[in-house]
Amino acid sequence: MTLNDNCIFCKIIKGEIPSQKVYEDDFMLVFKDIEPKAKVHLLAVPKMHFKLISEAGEEGLEAISHMLSVIPEVAAKNGCTNGYRLVINQGDDAGQTVFHLHIHILGGEELPW
Ligand code: AMP
Ligand code: ZN
Repeated sequence: MTLNDNCIFCKIIKGEIPSQKVYEDDFMLVFKDIEPKAKVHLLAVPKMHFKLISEAGEEGLEAISHMLSVIPEVAAKNGCTNGYRLVINQGDDAGQTVFHLHIHILGGEELPW
């Protein structure tokens, strides 16, 4: 499990900067987005540093698969009781600003497209 000293999400995983955690296990962490774009806005991150799905490798893809298996229950427990949206920004055209793969979980209200 490799983390990156200069990455804000790696620092959150290591507990070096605070976050509002809602779920954690050996492979992933879920915390509240600091600038929520919906009533519920969570970020799910793998406990290994990589930017893109294309860079994940076997271990990263296993982590993503695990995250997708856990997210429905985490979303429901945190107010996404009527559906939710998952977003994974990948690279510049998507506006990715944090270069540690993360899955946005958005819900708690009807979302505009
Ligand atoms: P993206 O544009 O997909 O890279 O999304 C990065 C997200 O991380 C944005 O929605 C930010 O609001 C969020 N973010 C940045 N720093 C923090 C932080 N320290 N704690 C929680 N969320 C953060
Ligand atoms: Zn990182």
